[in-house]
Amino acid sequence: MIFVDSHCHIDGEAFDGDRDEVVERAKDAGVKMMLTVGTGNPHNGEIERAVEVAERYENVFASVGVHPHDAKEYDEKAENGLIDLVKSSNKVIAWGEIGLDFYYDHSPRETQQEVFIKQIRTASKLDLPIIIHSREADNETVEILTEECGGKNFCGGVMHCFSGTAAMARKLMKIGFLISFAGNVTFKKAENLREAARVVPLDKLLIETDCPFLAPAPFRGRRNEPLYVVETAKFLAEFYGVEVEKLANQTTQNFLDFFKLEMKY
Ligand SMILES: [Zn+2]
Ligand SMILES: [Zn+2]
Repeated sequence: MIFVDSHCHIDGEAFDGDRDEVVERAKDAGVKMMLTVGTGNPHNGEIERAVEVAERYENVFASVGVHPHDAKEYDEKAENGLIDLVKSSNKVIAWGEIGLDFYYDHSPRETQQEVFIKQIRTASKLDLPIIIHSREADNETVEILTEECGGKNFCGGVMHCFSGTAAMARKLMKIGFLISFAGNVTFKKAENLREAARVVPLDKLLIETDCPFLAPAPFRGRRNEPLYVVETAKFLAEFYGVEVEKLANQTTQNFLDFFKLEMKY
């Protein structure tokens, strides 16, 4: 049984003390592939760490882009730096996470929207799929994606840590997105999230940890790590009424097909 953690942050400081062990533990449990998503200020070397970590481990890939939190830091220099980073390593397979976060509002909303659109267009030019982050901005996110993602160069994307409605999931799947669920789908009060999960067919589904955040039940509150994606898989398998093996293998295949990758052992 093989799992993929489609969105994690193992390049982050939370894993500086034991990154090798974390990757080893995950692989021992069948989590053989991970996408580590570089975030942070694009001017101080934080995003580069994702690529460095991906280069260090087999089957660990990287995504680079400017998170909506840091949208105010996005300028030409940042963009050129990211493009160079993409070209520097064949382990970079996506652009993101990009999008809108109107919960924290760390950058002005107008700036977030402008920078989101700019990055979608840059990713398309580079033939890279995009990883989307959306918090309390679902209508605006869907609006921008519907507008921007129809072009012939658009490579599709992943709606990460899905937290929207069933209607949003349907709209995004229609325009080329996979839907990725994180540990919060396992939380007791997440009925609305499970309502959305109900409309996502297995062949559009991914699973992720978004670690170090959002550890799934029963590990809620602890530092999350890629190993725990197995818990989310078990939970969703029961929810969909399929064997864990089927859910694991299908979500793995979805990831490999979408990013045109092969699993190396
Ligand atoms: Zn996110
Ligand atoms: Zn993330």
